[in-house]
Amino acid sequence: MNKDQLYDQLKMIVSKKNVIKDKPLKEYTYTRLGGEADYFVTPESYEQVQRIVKFSREHQIPFTLLGNGSNLIIKDGGIRGIVMNLGKLKDIQIEEGRVTAQAGARIIDVSRAALDQHLTGLEFACGIPGSVGGALFMNAGAYGGEVEDVLTYATVVTQEGELKQLKASDLDLSYRTSNIPDNGYIVLDAVFDLRSGVYEEIKAVMDDLTFKRESKQPLEYPSCGSVFKRPPGYFAGKLIQDSNLQGAQIGGAQVSTKHAGFIVNIDGATADEYIALIHYVQHKVKENFGVDLEREVRIIGEDLEK
Ligand SMILES: Cc1cc2nc3c(=O)[nH]c(=O)nc-3n(C[C@H](O)[C@H](O)[C@H](O)COP(=O)(O)OP(=O)(O)OC[C@H]3O[C@@H](n4cnc5c(N)ncnc54)[C@H](O)[C@@H]3O)c2cc1C
Repeated sequence: MNKDQLYDQLKMIVSKKNVIKDKPLKEYTYTRLGGEADYFVTPESYEQVQRIVKFSREHQIPFTLLGNGSNLIIKDGGIRGIVMNLGKLKDIQIEEGRVTAQAGARIIDVSRAALDQHLTGLEFACGIPGSVGGALFMNAGAYGGEVEDVLTYATVVTQEGELKQLKASDLDLSYRTSNIPDNGYIVLDAVFDLRSGVYEEIKAVMDDLTFKRESKQPLEYPSCGSVFKRPPGYFAGKLIQDSNLQGAQIGGAQVSTKHAGFIVNIDGATADEYIALIHYVQHKVKENFGVDLEREVRIIGEDLEK
């Protein structure tokens, strides 16, 4: 299938307004890094998602799922094939303590919707900038809470394009991981069961967490949040700080002077520079403390052709 035929087929599946060729992805990532997607597709129904998955599989077209781009570094050469984003599937329904949120909804919006209904359990998510799908994928969490604590069910599309209802326990959620990548599942929606609470108390917790976040994290610059997972027995930020790496810079990427666990894009960094700085930090921490820092952020896409 040539490029024009591929484009025509995609338009038939999701309609013309939902497929864009050579779409710059910088605006879809929190680091503001990355090249272009060959085909950027934004389905509006579960059926369209299934059809895209089946189509890409049948024609062996590379397929990448992009959530809210808050835990991804996209390389400078961009992403070949189809990049799908579920931002148009973002409905949130609440009935008697049960929240059903589509994968493209922001988890921040889900936690606010829960607050409005005086429901407690999702306060931890009030500052996590990911989508519901990305939050399940990573078992996102903060300040002592994580997705695993409140998730009951998820609807996914399998690699074969079939819809499946799963229980939370089917997803093997643990610290910042799940089996979603191994199974190639695409999360379409999630059901969270919350408890009734007192509006003012829930809001006070959320305000407190927001204050902590804003005072400790360099939210004024593009970043991917914490670059590294917490190594057993240590804190990544402390190891980086004690290695005197705060302020270290490669091109436009800098180890944050406000929070050592963050790498910020302070001046139009390239993905190459950002990734080089990650490797430098890993190397120095290993040299100083013998600890391997495992990345939390995922790196995808192609290098720029030189
Ligand atoms: C300033 C800042 C603060 C942050 N704070 C926290 C924090 O406190 N706690 C925390 O856990 N994380 C935090 N993060 C990281 C990030 O927000 C989470 O990891 C979030 O869950 C990522 O979701 P996303 O939609 O942005 O996913 P993306 O970054 O777009 O994608 C990450 C992975 O999830 C996959 N994915 C996305 N959607 C789906 C789907 N529907 N189905 C299957 N797979 C999918 C993608 O394919 C990709 O492999 C922070 C990030 C930033 C920038």
